[in-house]
This record gives sequence, C-alpha cells and structure tokens, in this order.
Amino acid sequence: MAASCDSFIHRLTSLLPSELENTELGQLLSPKKHSLILNRRRATLIVNRVRLFAFLFAVLTPLWGLVDLVVFSYPLWMGLATCRIVASLAFVCLLLFYRPRGNMLDAYRSMTLLFAIPTLFYIASHTLLGGQHLTSFSAMVATGYAFLPFVLMAGLAIFPLTLKENLVLASVLLLAQGLAGYLNWATLNWPSFAGGFWLLALIAGVTALASMSQLAFMIALVRQAVRDPLTGILSRGSGEEILGLQWNAVKRRNGCLSLVFIDLDHFKAVNDQFGHEAGDRVLREATKNMLGSLRGSDSLLRWGGEEFLLIMPDTDIQQAQQALQRLLSKGLGTRPDGQPLTASLGLAERCFDGCEDYQSLLELADRRMYLAKSSGRNRLCWQDESEGETLFSLPRA
Ligand code: GH3
Ligand code: MG
Ligand code: MG
Repeated sequence: MAASCDSFIHRLTSLLPSELENTELGQLLSPKKHSLILNRRRATLIVNRVRLFAFLFAVLTPLWGLVDLVVFSYPLWMGLATCRIVASLAFVCLLLFYRPRGNMLDAYRSMTLLFAIPTLFYIASHTLLGGQHLTSFSAMVATGYAFLPFVLMAGLAIFPLTLKENLVLASVLLLAQGLAGYLNWATLNWPSFAGGFWLLALIAGVTALASMSQLAFMIALVRQAVRDPLTGILSRGSGEEILGLQWNAVKRRNGCLSLVFIDLDHFKAVNDQFGHEAGDRVLREATKNMLGSLRGSDSLLRWGGEEFLLIMPDTDIQQAQQALQRLLSKGLGTRPDGQPLTASLGLAERCFDGCEDYQSLLELADRRMYLAKSSGRNRLCWQDESEGETLFSLPRA
C-alpha cells in the first residue's frame, strides 16, 4: 500500500516542471519570493514584449478600419474609425513612454495599459455594433469584433507570469466580457454568449499553463546564469548587479549596508599539497558553513577563486561585527590535513564610512581585507589606516 502510494506521488511529482528545483516551485505561484535579479530580468522582458505588441496594435488597429469602410455604412463606420484612431494613439503613447527599467511595478503598469486599451475598444465597438441590424458580409465582420477578448486572453501566453498574476489578469478580461454582455442585455443571444464565455475561461486555463511554463524556463535560466557552478552561490557578474540593486534600495531609505571581503588564507597550499579536487571540497564546505550562519536577507557571492563577498543590507557596523564573530566562531571548516581553515576579512559600511557609491564601499572593503592579510591573516579589519587601523583577531575554529 505504502509502495503504491509512493509510486503515485512519484508519478505526480514527475509531472512538475523538471527544469525547476523543488525549492523553486513556489515561485510559479506568486512573485513574492522572486529574487531581485529575477524581478529585474522578468520586468525587462515583459516591458519589451508589451512594446512589441503596442507597436503591432498601433499599426494594425487603424489598418483594419479600411475593412470597416468597405462593409459598414457611414455613421457606424465613422464611430468605429474614431475608436480605432484613439486606440492606436494610446498604443503609440505606450510605445513611446515605456522603456524597460527593470522594475516590476512598471512592468505591471505597462501590461495593464496594453490590455486596457483593446478592452475599452472592445466595449466601445460592441456598444456601437450592438444596436445594428447587419446582414451577410457586414454581420461576419461584426462577429469578428467579438473575437477580441479571445485574442487578448491568448496574448497572456507570451508573458512569463505566476499563477496569481494570471488569475488577476484573466479575471479582468472575463469581467470585461461579462460587462459587454450586460451592456447588450436586450439583444443578447444567450446560448452563444454562454458558450463564448466558457471558451474564454478554457483559453484562460491553457494560457496560464503556457505563461507559467515560460516563467519556469526563465527561473531556471536566471539561476544558471547567476550561480557559480562549484559552490551554488551567486557568481561575480550577477553579484555586482545585486549589490547595485541593494545599494539603491538601502540608499532610498537611508539605511545601513555592510560589505565584507573574505579571502581564504594560504589556499594555494591546499591545492599544491592535496590536489585541486580537495581544494574544491574545501571551497564547497567553507561556502556551506558561511551560508549556515547568515540571515535570509544577506547575500554571499563567490567573487573570485577563493574570494567571497558578503552583502548585509540594513546591518550597521556593530551588527556586522557581531554577525562575523558568530560566523567565524563556528569555523569555516578544515583543511585536508585537519587544520582549521582561516580567512582574512575586510569590512566596510555605508553610513559608518560615509561612502557615496557602492564602488567606493567595495574598494574600501577590499583594501581592508589586504590590510588584514598583511597584518598576519586570520583576522578582520574594519577601519582605515588614517583613523588608526583597527584589526580584530578572530577566534580559531
Ligand atoms: P593568501 O593567504 O595570501 O590569500 O594566499 P592564497 O594561497 O590563498 O592566495 P593565492 O591568490 O596565492 O592563491 C589562490 C589559489 O586559489 C590559487 C588557485 O589555485 C586557487 N583556486 C582558485 N579557484 C579555485 C577553484 O575553483 N578550485 C580550487 N581547487 N582552487 C582554486
Ligand atoms: Mg587567499
Ligand atoms: Mg585571493
């Protein structure tokens, strides 16, 4: 019984997107746990796609007016053409005023506008066409207008979205469809309206799957691009991007930000004496130990071979010293010969050191790390020479 239950669960879990790790699955449901880098990449992609669609709609919407001209009589054609010109101008504004800035709020706004323009156009055109008695060809073109919500719903599939975001957008489109039905209450053909509504809801389901699978690929790609393959922590390129983002966020609220350069001592000797494989194991163990005593909001990056950078937002210099004391008293691990692995650390803090940009904070932390090295290694340095260098020896593991 237990075995068949296990196999059932195994079959079920094998249906989940294999490109994602188990811990990442929650990111498909809501954007709450998305990393800053994922937010940035996703926002850029969404705004770029919004702009592409705005361009296409800005060109195609007035062009279709020519078909209206042929099939509809004067007052109706004029009304529809006005709606088309207004919609097209709104798409042009969207194209001109939205540039990708890596901000999710901006991305949501641009998407809302992209969907709001045709939805309003749909409601307006539906109202104009509702009271008309159309025949043959013009009736066929008028029916085409009713397909707009389906095009919009299917259009959601081109965006990498979470389930929650899909539900919000799809509900808005379904509501708009309901509203259009309500406005044409008197002339509504109930069976075909209900059938259309059901079809729209089905398309919403398929679209949600498509856009969530896009998101799954995006999460996996971003992870591969930003992670260092040996240790699994952030690599230098993405780390610098994260540092820039954290710096801006902290600066906006005038908060503290501590930065620590960590360089393992005499690491080359590990490779020389015990081989590169053993060196790799020591690096992985040191990373695991450091991660074990960090807060969720801290970021540890692999800056170079045996150099790490620790970013601690909202942490003043005293709190950073305490955190590092805790981290190092637990130890970084051992060398293959059983000796404790030690490191030299340089600490700098935004408010304490009065740095204007993150590059100077980085330089300061780096310089202090070298100071710790030249003063005998296995220590933390957190003040400049000019103020009387302060070196703080760390307890041996
Ligand atoms: P110091 O105390 O002055 O920092 O001495 P060190 O030996 O740690 O520093 P050095 O810069 O001379 O050597 C760093 C070594 O780190 C050299 C390189 O072979 C090793 N290293 C860099 N990346 C890796 C890696 O991915 N795996 C392994 N096993 N070793 C690496
Ligand atoms: Mg070193
Ligand atoms: Mg080094």
